[in-house]
Amino acid sequence: MGRAFVYVILGGGVAAGYAALEFSNRGVSHGELCIISEESVAPYERPALSKGYLLPEAPARLPAFHTCVGANEERLTPKWYKEHGIELVLGTRVISADVRRKTLLTAAGETISYKILIVATGARALKLEEFGVNGSDAENVCYLRDLTDANRLVDVMHSCSGGNAVVIGGGYIGMECAASLVINKINVTMVFPEAQCMPRLFTPKIASFYEDYYKSKGVEFVKGTALSSFDMDADGKVVAVNLRDGKRLLVDMVVVGIGIRPNTSLFEGQLTLEKGGIKVNEKMQSSNSSVYAVGDVAAFPVKLFGETRRLEHVDSARKCARHAVAAIMEPEKSGEFDYVPFFYSRIFALSWQFYGDNVGEVVHFGDFSGNTFGAYWVNKGHLVGSFLEGGTKEEYAAIAMVTGLKPAIEDLAELESRGLSYAMAVSRKPPPPSQITNVGDSGPSLVLEKPVYPWHATAGVILAGSIAAFAYWYGRRRRRW
Ligand SMILES: Cc1cc2nc3c(=O)[nH]c(=O)nc-3n(C[C@H](O)[C@H](O)[C@H](O)COP(=O)(O)OP(=O)(O)OC[C@H]3O[C@@H](n4cnc5c(N)ncnc54)[C@H](O)[C@@H]3O)c2cc1C
Repeated sequence: MGRAFVYVILGGGVAAGYAALEFSNRGVSHGELCIISEESVAPYERPALSKGYLLPEAPARLPAFHTCVGANEERLTPKWYKEHGIELVLGTRVISADVRRKTLLTAAGETISYKILIVATGARALKLEEFGVNGSDAENVCYLRDLTDANRLVDVMHSCSGGNAVVIGGGYIGMECAASLVINKINVTMVFPEAQCMPRLFTPKIASFYEDYYKSKGVEFVKGTALSSFDMDADGKVVAVNLRDGKRLLVDMVVVGIGIRPNTSLFEGQLTLEKGGIKVNEKMQSSNSSVYAVGDVAAFPVKLFGETRRLEHVDSARKCARHAVAAIMEPEKSGEFDYVPFFYSRIFALSWQFYGDNVGEVVHFGDFSGNTFGAYWVNKGHLVGSFLEGGTKEEYAAIAMVTGLKPAIEDLAELESRGLSYAMAVSRKPPPPSQITNVGDSGPSLVLEKPVYPWHATAGVILAGSIAAFAYWYGRRRRRW
């Protein structure tokens, strides 16, 4: 026997918090909704863990301060959930799910039933053992996925001040942790097998800028090789890192950021999976009509690209969670999820944003020796992705907008010479309603002199602009610490 709810959110991360907010905004009744989370704290803004949370001046490490944030900076603290009649079942792992019976079994043996389930189980950090290297359990080896990991990382950092750290992995976790380690006065060497940092997103030219910047902060790079083993002392602490190229690096601590794997295991064999996640339709509904999936675990149709994608970004988690709840509570009113993928990072004094997709030919622009530069990606004659470092609010909004429009690009050289001014020009000339034409699959044909904007481009403009404005606002708030 156990509890029964109309709506259950499985997982207590970013997507869960924003889904709860949307349920509350749409008037969910007290006692109808419950969130089950393995973590012992209410849903919080996970990106803060690799940013302000690791900095020396971070305030007392209480979880409540970075809970998910609603309109008017309303904080979704445990008190908020209580006042809104939402049950938080924290510190509780679900060990099996039965989508036919609509039940979840917790590790404590309770069966919780639902009418509608939202799967928001996110992802877990990949472990070294999955690549044949032992030692993840050593007390000075850190991962970073949740608050427990972050607290541990802070403790280990404090015990190693002035010492040496090796960061394994050159993705955003590795890059952001390396920056925080440096700020905490720890000497950092980054090790990764690729030829450059952020290989999934950055072009070699962009990567080279960030690597040079990191080098200027004292970070060393060992590229093109991987970890082969650890040397431990008698207490089981890692004292050296052995690399496949034969190098041996003495260390006081190790941070591992080698990727994530979506938490789908409860639903394997029960729901359709794609791209490593739970496949959902434009309403975020899975192959079982009572089960929705959102956030890192969901593979959803990205209209802009005309294909299913699984994104591992916070903005996508927030937005698809809210969209799923809208589709559940008011199915007749909710349209398709029209999303422009967006990702950002902040490291040292730098800050970048990326919109869309990084496929096709790349056109760089701006001053790579200065503060503001970027790139456009042009695929099959259309601009599909934009990257900008050091932009203003208006400039980020402009690249978001131009990416949402997916304009036709006829002349790459001209795009290169116009650079950021191209996006600014497009953003300053919003699409006139009189020029609404037919909807084309490949997106609007935007030739600079004579724009033609189908209706979904207009929607894309509004959506992309609001993403950028939110991101900029959110970034400024977070930069406070
Ligand atoms: C350190 C860090 C920094 C990041 N920085 C950025 C950034 O700068 N920009 C950006 O765009 N994205 C960033 N991200 C990614 C972003 O945080 C994720 O995309 C987002 O958190 C996904 O939200 P989610 O709700 O799907 O998953 P999560 O936030 O991971 O939440 C999943 C929740 O489900 C729970 N759970 C899983 N399985 C079970 C189970 N069986 N039973 C009970 N509970 C379960 C987990 O404990 C967790 O609480 C960062 C991620 C990390 C870890």
